[in-house]
Amino acid sequence: MSKKVYFDYASTTYVSNEVLNEMMPCFNAIYGNANTLHSFGRMAAGVVDRARDRIKNAINAEKANEIYFTSGGTEANNWAIRGIAHAYSSKGKHIIVSQIEHKSILDACAVLEEEGYEVTYLPVDKHGLVDLGQLLHEIKNETTLISIMAVNNEVGTIQNIKTIAKIAHDYGIIFHTDASQAIGNLKIDVKDMEIDAMTITGHKIYGPKGVGCLYLKEGIRIENLIYGGSAERGKRGGTVDVPAVAGFGKAVEVAVRDMAVNAQKMKSVRDYFLKCVHDRIEFVEVNGHPMQKVNTILNLCFEMVDKESLLMLLDLEGIAVSAGSACTSNSLTQSHVLKAMGLEDEIANSSIRFSFGKNLTKEDIDYTVDVLEKSVAKLRSISALTKAGRK
Ligand SMILES: *Cc1c(COP(=O)(O)O)cnc(C)c1O
Repeated sequence: MSKKVYFDYASTTYVSNEVLNEMMPCFNAIYGNANTLHSFGRMAAGVVDRARDRIKNAINAEKANEIYFTSGGTEANNWAIRGIAHAYSSKGKHIIVSQIEHKSILDACAVLEEEGYEVTYLPVDKHGLVDLGQLLHEIKNETTLISIMAVNNEVGTIQNIKTIAKIAHDYGIIFHTDASQAIGNLKIDVKDMEIDAMTITGHKIYGPKGVGCLYLKEGIRIENLIYGGSAERGKRGGTVDVPAVAGFGKAVEVAVRDMAVNAQKMKSVRDYFLKCVHDRIEFVEVNGHPMQKVNTILNLCFEMVDKESLLMLLDLEGIAVSAGSACTSNSLTQSHVLKAMGLEDEIANSSIRFSFGKNLTKEDIDYTVDVLEKSVAKLRSISALTKAGRK
């Protein structure tokens, strides 16, 4: 069997055994509807309550009831943007996000614009950091919501969330953050960081797909998302997916519990990989912030190489990487993140994302660097860019 290496943990992970063990009994032994009152229902409700508690503790929320389960990050982001904007529309119809948000934020904003809201898309610097001066400049009396992601999924840059939240609160504005890539990578304390609303998803942290949550601080209003019943305090109807929620709760708990150990491990894996790449391949640049970034994401530009061609050559050798985020990588459109960072087209079109996870070994990396070296050389030798470019 040929070798396979998974380098795409930022688009999704496998489900860890610890999480799987938490889920298994919920498929058959504990099958009650969590919204029913008999013993079967109470047993299921107990599982859901435990998951809510675990997430509450992991992010230091005040109450478990501030956690609303959703079908994942996309749904939580859609709900936060539209639901909060709608709930506060009598106060104002202006919101602020960054240009490098996930599509589930940006596309929800586009719908708000169609509805007559005004949306400001904050620029970022070449490292992917939001300019706080610019943020202050864009705030108006009508601004009701600021949403800035904690960690960018394409380049790994970490925003100054606590400072942004403080600015928002100085002006009486609600602050939401998409923390889908942050949980397990950096400490998230919603009280200390003054976060009012926050998105988390299960499948980026060794939990199941199709489940996530919106943390919503008590007192913050939001429009109901799904009508029909009392699930999630009436805000998001539908029978709760107990196995998914159980796995998600466990995944969040484990991600936070193991954060320090994992961060260290991922850093050494990433640094080793980068050193090998730099030692063996010329004209490679790192995109993103040099310091203020997570250890799990590395966006590399291989100058004079077409990213899609490189992706295909790597795939032929069993290596899975991504050209940007999963949501945009299968279209030929350019990464909106690298564009917002001001990268030239040639650089953006030569950039791919390696994301690191628990199963990567030194052998995987050595194999990958071998294949990379060969593939990059091959593509450069046939590249028109080479002739016109540096060599
Ligand atoms: C993956 C991801 C999402 C979407 O989460 P899903 O659960 O896949 O819908 C949102 N934001 C960021 C930053 C992500 O990485």
